[in-house]
Amino acid sequence: MQVVFASAEAAPFVKTGGLGDVAGSLPRALVAAGADVIVMVPKYGTIASEYTDRMEHVADFYVSLGWRNEYCGLERLVIDGVTYLFIDNERYFKRDYPYGFFDDGERFAFFSKAVTESLQHLPEGFQCDVLHCNDWHTALAPVFLREFYQGLPLYERVKTVFSIHNIAFQGQYADTILNDILGMAHIPNAARQLRCDERSINYMQGALDYSDAITTVSPSYAWEIQTPEYGEGLDGILRRRSNVLSGILNGIDTDAWNPATDPMIHVNYSAADMSGKKACKAALQEELGLEVRDDRPLMVMVTRLTRQKGMDLVTYALDRILSGGVQVAVLGTGDYEEPMRYFANKYPGTCAARITFDNALSHRMYAGADMFLMPSLFEPCGLSQMIAMRYGTLPVVRETGGLRDTVAPYNQFTGEGTGFTFANFNGDEMGDAVFRGARLYWDDHAAWDHLVQNAMAADFSWVRSADEYMNLYHNLHPEIDITKPEP
Ligand code: ADP
Repeated sequence: MQVVFASAEAAPFVKTGGLGDVAGSLPRALVAAGADVIVMVPKYGTIASEYTDRMEHVADFYVSLGWRNEYCGLERLVIDGVTYLFIDNERYFKRDYPYGFFDDGERFAFFSKAVTESLQHLPEGFQCDVLHCNDWHTALAPVFLREFYQGLPLYERVKTVFSIHNIAFQGQYADTILNDILGMAHIPNAARQLRCDERSINYMQGALDYSDAITTVSPSYAWEIQTPEYGEGLDGILRRRSNVLSGILNGIDTDAWNPATDPMIHVNYSAADMSGKKACKAALQEELGLEVRDDRPLMVMVTRLTRQKGMDLVTYALDRILSGGVQVAVLGTGDYEEPMRYFANKYPGTCAARITFDNALSHRMYAGADMFLMPSLFEPCGLSQMIAMRYGTLPVVRETGGLRDTVAPYNQFTGEGTGFTFANFNGDEMGDAVFRGARLYWDDHAAWDHLVQNAMAADFSWVRSADEYMNLYHNLHPEIDITKPEP
């Protein structure tokens, strides 16, 4: 299975959010699952010289975009069995940051066209079976492929997959841009499919129409975005294409997030020997200026302090939670910094707020806490709740998107579950869920420990996700054998 994975970002070269993480980890996992993978990323001016120095120039050609003809170089770097091809065009990409420019619409139309054109210039022996595009920046590639390249023998076998990581950014532009990306003659079918209202076009809408398969980052979110509440205006087309839409959960880096080996936490521990977790909790309470007592459940948040992350519910319910005997510590930055400082001042010893971005402290918080609060308004996948479970910290989450798919609610009759959940976006319901957790912590140690073991045993590795993507590719190319190689 030969896969070209196109993304506007990929860790460690360039990362502004979750897409960078996924494009950094998934291709490696796909290679381990037996695929040949080429990742295509723009060659930004911000990529560190330790990488650019090692890139090898493998091809150059011109790409037509609208009325322009633009240079495109291909620079190759191979890391961990994954081939990266960087799309080089200094006019578009040699800038101080990846996005946020007046001509982003044109820049990423170029990137999408260059990716499509590059399929003719791949290294010897590589014939693209699947072109896997991600988010709006690469959304035009499936459109270009069908409108400009269909019929060319090399392109005939290429199937396209489009993954939605963030449906809020769709690439919407005034329709005057059609002249720049499709050309004077505006291919009528493409122009019609891209149009979202009288005067605007929408790149992501194009991908949803033209791709052979559509995915998003959790099964629940795949269903939710088909509703007006979550669909950001694209729910209609997603409902129409629901037969090719699926959700595949992201994984986490289980080496970087491992309490047994994590060098950033106070004492290492594992599911077999949890004694270190108590020491981590005491050290964290001490560090944050909280009362050092194990009879207080310690609940933390590591998050952007935004409405999406449910901060309205948190500020509503904190008085009840803190006065009820639960300690709360928050690490984050964003719109709700002042309310968090207020609660930290009002409840010294019980509430702490660290208004900063601090990776090392986040590790100590995942390890030292008893509970992890994540009451999101919407959550395509979410990583923090998976990290928390890996550290034996029980999540309290709203049943939405990836949270619903990764946290099994505690069932008091069977003792099963990996956390505590609530359904509606409502501060009282969230408070009730917090106290269901706290009560269990206080009253039933055996049941609590059982949940912790369940949470730590859950599989959030990329291996599982990569297998699901392989099955999806296989559905598009049933003739290709995807038997896993011997390790
Ligand atoms: P998002 O919607 O922000 O991508 P996720 O849960 O998917 O939410 O991922 C957030 C990631 O960022 C997690 O790894 C979390 O630990 C980390 N993070 C968020 N805020 C902070 C912070 N203030 N300090 C350190 N890490 C943070």
